[in-house]
Amino acid sequence: MPDGPRLEDAVNETCPWSGDPIAADSLTTYRGAVVGFCNPGCRDKFDTATTAFDLALDARQARQD
Ligand SMILES: [Zn+2]
Repeated sequence: MPDGPRLEDAVNETCPWSGDPIAADSLTTYRGAVVGFCNPGCRDKFDTATTAFDLALDARQARQD
């Protein structure tokens, strides 16, 4: 059985987008910690942004090497 991020492990209690309470089906991980959102749409918006920035930072780092 997959053991995903758990609501009780989240570092925040309210969604940074809306201020609403976070939901168990709307968790992801960031910098090794569980972070929560009020719904999967909010989470996916965050995931999309952080993934894009991670890729951009990796690309910049690669150019500097
Ligand atoms: Zn939200």
